[in-house]
This record gives sequence, C-alpha cells and structure tokens, in this order.
Amino acid sequence: MPLRRCAGCGLRAPQAELLRFAARDGVLVGGRREPGRGVYTCRNLACFEGAAGRGMFARVLRQQVRVGPELLRLYTDAASDAGEAAVAQRKDFGVTNG
Ligand SMILES: [Zn+2]
Repeated sequence: MPLRRCAGCGLRAPQAELLRFAARDGVLVGGRREPGRGVYTCRNLACFEGAAGRGMFARVLRQQVRVGPELLRLYTDAASDAGEAAVAQRKDFGVTNG
C-alpha cells in the first residue's frame, strides 16, 4: 500500500485513507481517477483548510489552482465514513426490495 503525505498536516498515511485531488483546467477537483499530479489530504476538514490556507495544493501540484468551496462536501460526506458501508448496504437493501 503506497503511502502519501497529507498536504494539510504532513502526516503520512496509506493512499486509500486519504482524499486525492488534482488540477483540471486550473481548478482543484477531487477524485482518484483524475489524471496528472495528485495531492492528498486526510479525511479531515482541518487538513483541507490548512492546505488551502497555506497554498499547499498549488505548491504540490506545481501550478495555480482555484480551490472552490464545493470541495468541502467531500469532507462532510467523509466525516460519516464509519457509517458509509452501512449506508451502502441500506441502499442495496432498498434496491433489492424494489
Ligand atoms: Zn492531515
């Protein structure tokens, strides 16, 4: 499992535990499949805000990027990470029940 460094707090963690971002047309977007250089943070809003506030996304990506407020959603969604599997199961359950 490759380790990646959080751009906010500097902690190293397995890639799968971090959120990945990349630049698309000068705008920071979240997503593991985004091409190009990636930048990572913990699933922790404080890490995102810290990275954004210190310009770490632009620094790691080596280009200017706009960091939009819509990215905050990734963290509020991820905050309930422990319940994510349960939610997915409930959704599946709902589908199978018609
Ligand atoms: Zn962090």
